[in-house]
Amino acid sequence: MVRFNIEFIIDKDVCFTYWLQAIFKWSWFFGEKKAKHYRRFIKKNKLSEKIALFVFKKILQRRNNKYFWLWDRYSNKKISNIFENLLWNLIKKVFKYNFDVIWKNEEESLKKWQIQLLEYDFSLFNDALERVANFLLVKDFNGFDLKIKLLFGSEIGVSAHVKKEFPNLIILSVPSFNRENLNSVIGTIIHELIHKFEYESAITDSLFKKSYKNIIEPNNINAPSDYKWKYLLKESMLRAISSSRMNTYIGRLLTNDNEIIQKDVVKFIFTKKESINPEFLIRVVAQKIEQLTTEYLNKNMVIDEKYCDFISQVWVDLFSGEGRALG
Ligand SMILES: [Zn+2]
Repeated sequence: MVRFNIEFIIDKDVCFTYWLQAIFKWSWFFGEKKAKHYRRFIKKNKLSEKIALFVFKKILQRRNNKYFWLWDRYSNKKISNIFENLLWNLIKKVFKYNFDVIWKNEEESLKKWQIQLLEYDFSLFNDALERVANFLLVKDFNGFDLKIKLLFGSEIGVSAHVKKEFPNLIILSVPSFNRENLNSVIGTIIHELIHKFEYESAITDSLFKKSYKNIIEPNNINAPSDYKWKYLLKESMLRAISSSRMNTYIGRLLTNDNEIIQKDVVKFIFTKKESINPEFLIRVVAQKIEQLTTEYLNKNMVIDEKYCDFISQVWVDLFSGEGRALG
């Protein structure tokens, strides 16, 4: 029996922080499309706003892009440095009017999601999660004590984040409320729960490292953009188990509507290496390894060298041109 103690929280301050860091580029991780969406209530940055963003960027970059400053805010930790606290309050003041307009638009949708998620019966995934815990060799797993903070992000799908150093917190960005997106939201939550398993796994790090050395390194392939191989390999595995899409191990428990699953099938034709978005490649790989992943889980097997090498090989094939066969 898996214990699910999950709170779904709407926290305006957390939403503000997430919103503000998303509207401009301050680290390598930046989505123009997302930023555009988040900026839609700001016409042209006023001078005060430009200065505020500049100061905010400096605060964030002082932490060496490790996202810790943001996660401290997401977890409602007080800012200990008096000067920094003062700056942060000024930044909030500069954007208060804009953010209040946005909040008025988004709050109701978040409340609807909150009700929907509070009612959801997560015990549906008892068996599946026990299998995943076994697959990743997680010892002493006995359940989840979690706060999930809801963020608005309408029109740009579902996304969520976890951080190892904040084991009881997930931030979850949901689209404008629509029951049709419920399964995508649930799939994303389960994906994040599985990230938490992976942090506890006794063997994934060493297995993927070995597999990288054996399969990827000899082929001399650089990870796309600023991504790291360790992330790409693990993330493709986790997305084969669960994501906002339904062509995953968990997705198939959520729906057996073939039309919905077919909709999620991504086609890959190798055109120009540089132009391909790593997030897209992760989806392609996740899809290619879904069947083997499901087989391991259904047979109650534990992740092993063979499985990791299979993932590495799929990545290598994408870059060596054999990926064309996928298209
Ligand atoms: Zn992930």
